[in-house]
Amino acid sequence: VMASMAHLQKEKLQLQEELLGLQEKLAARENDELSLSLQLQGQVETLKAKLLEQAQEIGRLRSELGGTDAEKHRDLLAAENERLRQEMKACEGELRELRRQQQQAPCRDCPHLQESAGLREQLSQLQREAEETRAKLVELDLEVQQKTNRLAEVELRLKDSLAERAEEEERLSRRLRDSQETIASLKSQPQQIKYIIKTVEVESAKAKQALCETQSRNQYLQEQVGMQRQVLKEMEQQLQSSQKTEAQLRAQIMMYEAELERAHGQMVEEMQAMEEEKNHAIEEAFSRAQVEMKAVHENLAGEEGAGVSQGCPSSVAASPAPHLCLVPAGVRTNLLTLQPALRTLTHDYNSLKRQVRDFPLLLQETLRSARAEISQAIEEVHSTNRELLRKYRRELQLRKKCHNELVRLKGNIRVFGRVRPITKEDGEGPEASNAVTFDTDDDAVLHLLHKGKQVSFELDKVFPPQASQEEVFQEVQALVTSCIDGYNVCIFAYGQTGAGKTYTMEGTAANPGINQRALQLLFSEVRGKAADWDYTITVSAAEIYNEALRDLLGKEPQEKLEIKLCPDGSGQLYVPGLTEFRVQSVEDINQVFEFGHVKRVTECTNLNEHSSRSHALLIITVRGLDHSTGLRTTGKLNLVDLAGSERVGRSGAEGSRLREAQHINKSLSALGDVIYALRSRQGHVPFRNSKLTYLLQDSLSGDSKTLMMVQVSPAEKNTSETLCSLKFAERVRSVELGPVSRKAELVSWPSQEQLEVTKGLLGDSPGSAATPGRGHASHSPGQLSGRTASIRRKLQTSG
Ligand code: ADP
Ligand code: MG
Repeated sequence: VMASMAHLQKEKLQLQEELLGLQEKLAARENDELSLSLQLQGQVETLKAKLLEQAQEIGRLRSELGGTDAEKHRDLLAAENERLRQEMKACEGELRELRRQQQQAPCRDCPHLQESAGLREQLSQLQREAEETRAKLVELDLEVQQKTNRLAEVELRLKDSLAERAEEEERLSRRLRDSQETIASLKSQPQQIKYIIKTVEVESAKAKQALCETQSRNQYLQEQVGMQRQVLKEMEQQLQSSQKTEAQLRAQIMMYEAELERAHGQMVEEMQAMEEEKNHAIEEAFSRAQVEMKAVHENLAGEEGAGVSQGCPSSVAASPAPHLCLVPAGVRTNLLTLQPALRTLTHDYNSLKRQVRDFPLLLQETLRSARAEISQAIEEVHSTNRELLRKYRRELQLRKKCHNELVRLKGNIRVFGRVRPITKEDGEGPEASNAVTFDTDDDAVLHLLHKGKQVSFELDKVFPPQASQEEVFQEVQALVTSCIDGYNVCIFAYGQTGAGKTYTMEGTAANPGINQRALQLLFSEVRGKAADWDYTITVSAAEIYNEALRDLLGKEPQEKLEIKLCPDGSGQLYVPGLTEFRVQSVEDINQVFEFGHVKRVTECTNLNEHSSRSHALLIITVRGLDHSTGLRTTGKLNLVDLAGSERVGRSGAEGSRLREAQHINKSLSALGDVIYALRSRQGHVPFRNSKLTYLLQDSLSGDSKTLMMVQVSPAEKNTSETLCSLKFAERVRSVELGPVSRKAELVSWPSQEQLEVTKGLLGDSPGSAATPGRGHASHSPGQLSGRTASIRRKLQTSG
C-alpha cells in the first residue's frame, strides 16, 4: 500500500508538475492571446479610423450632391457591413488561434476539449453567420457599385452644368462688354477706346450648309461663265467666218458686175460691127443693083437703038414683071439670082434689127435677175449676221449677269496684295534678301518666311513684283466703271512706308497708277454713253494729317475743313468749302494733279516724310442724267493713299512724331474697326472715331464696294511689318458689306431752282469758289491753269 501510495504520490507530483507546466503553458498562451487581441484591437482601431474617414468623405460628398434616402440606407448598410467584416475577421483570428492550441495540446479529457467543442460549435455558427454576412456583403457590394456609377453620372452631369454655366457667363460678359463699348462710343468721349478683337467663329450648321451651297453655286456659276465664254468665242469665230464669206460674196458680185459690163461692152461692139456689116452689105447690094440696073438699062437702050421697039414705057422699076418677058434672058437670070440674095439679106436685116431691139431688154432682164440673186444672197448673209449679233449680245448680257452674280457671291470687300520688287534702297546682303514666295497654281496665295518659319496667307489676288501697273489696273477697272452706274467705291492702299502705296495709286509720269488710269477710263466710258446720258466728272483732293482735313486744291490749304450733314435732311455728308474741279480730259487731270502736288510741296519741307504720315484722298464724283428717262445717278470713287502702317509708337518716338504716330494708329485701327463692325452687321458702326472713316462713311456702308490693296515689301528686314500688314489684310478680307444695290433714283426733270442750285455747286464763277456753307465750290480748268501759274510764280519769287 505504501509502495502504491508512494507511487501514487509520485504520480500525483508528476501530474501536479504536469499541471503546473500546463498552467504555465496556458498562462503563456493567455499572454499570447492578450497580445494578439491587443494587436487585433490596434488593427480594428486603424480600420475604424479609416472607416470614419470614409464616412466623413461620403458625408461630404453627400452634402455636396445632396444624398437621397437610399444613399443613406446604403451608407448605413456599408458601415454595418464593415463592422461585420471586422467581427468576422476577429473571429477567424480567434479560431485560428484555438486550432493552433488544439494541435499543440492534444489533451483528451481536459475541460479544454469541452470548451473547444463549444467553441467549435460557436465557430460553425459564426461561420454560418459569416457566410450569410458574406452573401449580404456581395449584395451590398453590388449595390455600392451601382451607387458609385450613379454617383459618377451625377458628377458628370454636375460638371456639364458647371461648364454650361461658365459658357453662359462668358456669353453674358461678352454681351456686357459689347454694350459697354456701345455705351462708350455713344457717349463719344474723345478718350481713346481700346479696340479688342476676338475672333469668335460661330458657325452654325445652317450657315455652314449655306456656305457649302454658296460655294457650290459659285463653282457652278464659274463653270457657266467658262462655258459661256467658250460659246462666245465660238460665236465670234462664226461671225468672223460669216463676215469673211460676206466679203467673198461681195468680191464675187463685183467680179460678176465687171464681167457683165465687159459682156455688155462686147455686145455693143458686136452690134456696131454687125450694123456696119449690114450697112456695108446693103451698100454693096445697092451698088451692085445699080450696076446691074445700069447694065440692064444699057442693054435696053442698046436694043431700042437697034430698032427693036415694043412700045414699052421707059419705067422698068415701077412694074418690071410685065416687062420681064421683054427683058433679055441674061438680065432675067441675073435678076432671078439676085432676088433670093435680097430676100435673105432682108431677112437677115430684119432678124438683126429684132435682135438689136430686143437686146437692151434681154440685158436688163439678165441684170435684174443677177441683181435679185445678189441682193438675196446679201440679205441672207445679213440676216445670219443679225442673228449672230443678237446671240452675241445675249451672250454678253448673260456673261455680265454671271459676272455680277459672281461678284455678289464673293462679297463687296476685295483684298488684293501687291509685292513690290527689291530695290536699290533695300541695300545689299542678307537684310535685302527676298522673303516672299508665291504659289504657281494659285494667284491668291503668298508665303512669307518670317524668323525661319513659313507663314501662308490667302487673299483675293496677289500681284507679284513683276506685275505691271496695267495688269493691276485691269483687275480694278470693273470697280471703277461701276461708279458710273451709281455705286460708291473706295480703293485703299495700305502698308508700311516704302511698300509701294504711292507707286500703285499715283505711279510715275511714264507709268501712271490707278488714279490717272481710272479717270481716263471714266472719260472713255462716259464718251461711249454720251448718246443717252449726260455725265459730269468732278475731282477733289484732300489730305488728312493729325486728324485734320485739308483741301489740296483750295485757296487756303491751311484751313481745316469740317465734315457736316447735308442740310437737306438726306443724311448725306458733305464738306463745306472742299474744292471740286470739273474735268473733261487727260490734260485737265494732269493740271489738277500738278496743282495738288504743288500745294503739298509748298506746305511741307519733306514731302516724302509728310506723305507717309498723312492720308491722301482723291475723290472722283460721277453724276449722270439719262435724257430719256430722267434717271439720275451719282457715284463716288475714293482713291486713298493711306499713311504708313509701321508701328512707330513702339520705337520710343517723342513729341510731334509720337502724336503723328498716335493719330495714324488711331485712324488705321478705326478703319479696321469700322470694317469689322460692318462685317458683324452691328447696329452701331464707329464711323465717327476718325476723320477718315467719317468722311468715307457713305462710301463704306450699304451698297458700296471696297478694295484694300495691301502693299508689302519682300525684303527680309521688313518681314515683321509685312506680317502685320498681311494679318490686317486677312482680317479685313472676310468682311461683308451687305447686298449691292444701285444708287439711282427716278426723278422728274430738274426745276429751274434746282438747276440754279446745281449751277451754284458746279458753277465757274470765281466768287463762288471755296465759299463755306455754299456747298462744293468749283473751278474751270482754265482758271486752274491760271492759278497754278500764279502759284508757280509765287514759288519762283519766294525762291
Ligand atoms: P509708299 O508710298 O508705300 O511709301 P512708294 O510708292 O513711295 O512707297 O514706293 C517706294 C519705292 O519703291 C519707290 O521708289 C517706288 O518707285 C518703288 N516701287 C514701289 N512699288 C514698285 C513696283 N511695283 N515696281 C517698281 N518700283 C516700285
Ligand atoms: Mg507714299
